[in-house]
Amino acid sequence: MGIQYVSWNYNQMGLVATLQLSETTDQNTIAWQRFLPTGPVALLPLNSKQSSLVWSNTPENVKHLLKLPNDQFIDELNSALFKTFQRNNIVQEANKILDTFFKLINLPPNCMRQLPPSVCDVVEGSRAAFPLGFGHAANYVGKNVALVGDAAHRVHPLGGQGVNLGFGDVECLNEILSEAVYSGRKLGSLLDLKEYETKRQRHNVPTMLALDGLQKLYSTEAAPAVLLRSLGLQITHALSPIKRAIIQQAAH
Ligand SMILES: Cc1cc2nc3c(=O)[nH]c(=O)nc-3n(C[C@H](O)[C@H](O)[C@H](O)COP(=O)(O)OP(=O)(O)OC[C@H]3O[C@@H](n4cnc5c(N)ncnc54)[C@H](O)[C@@H]3O)c2cc1C
Repeated sequence: MGIQYVSWNYNQMGLVATLQLSETTDQNTIAWQRFLPTGPVALLPLNSKQSSLVWSNTPENVKHLLKLPNDQFIDELNSALFKTFQRNNIVQEANKILDTFFKLINLPPNCMRQLPPSVCDVVEGSRAAFPLGFGHAANYVGKNVALVGDAAHRVHPLGGQGVNLGFGDVECLNEILSEAVYSGRKLGSLLDLKEYETKRQRHNVPTMLALDGLQKLYSTEAAPAVLLRSLGLQITHALSPIKRAIIQQAAH
């Protein structure tokens, strides 16, 4: 299509696998994500016995994890999910002060530590890894052609938004093309396609930049950044309108 494409790599690989949970539970309905210095590790519910793993990590660590026998891989994973890390004292104090303040004004505290389900096995042959990067096409459309999904944009999996952005593209393109056909216009006219591009870029670009910002915010151990993300999460959790606005943006 001869269009410009902006991209960069995160120097991380995403290791995916299908995991067997230690206990069957109807409560396996929550997606978990833990942000580690090497990258986030996420468990996404599949059914009452299995979860899907997305483990972002350094290319060296991923190479090592892919080679491990199943039992050692599970040990490494459970350690990544449950190991307690030394927390920064200043951040901990700031979290406590904010919690006390929230209690005073009757907002929910955020000090409970909920735990992800523990994992006992990995489904044979389900481990694989992919390089992680950011990519965005300056234009999504050309004469009689439209890009949707990862062909138009690629994001870090930490927000679980890749597929959603693609579904949103398809829904929008479908609506615009249907409207064009009902109105008797030629299918795939550049005017209609440009409307699709404008609508989707207005939604996709801010979402993508927010995800890229989060990736950078969670890739550092510098105290001001740790403080910012810690307090940011605590405030987001306590203030329902902010939380709802984020959910709303993520659902389109
Ligand atoms: C490690 C990792 C974890 C992820 N986790 C999540 C998550 O938790 N939640 C989420 O929403 N998203 C996640 N994503 C993103 C998600 O996988 C993608 O956004 C989604 O798969 C994009 O779908 P797509 O159909 O646009 O593209 P793709 O899934 O890339 O499909 C494109 C298809 O086209 C085929 N193809 C390519 N070139 C040609 C050709 N010339 N001829 C014929 N066929 C061709 C490819 O083989 C491929 O099958 C993750 C991505 C990665 C890498």
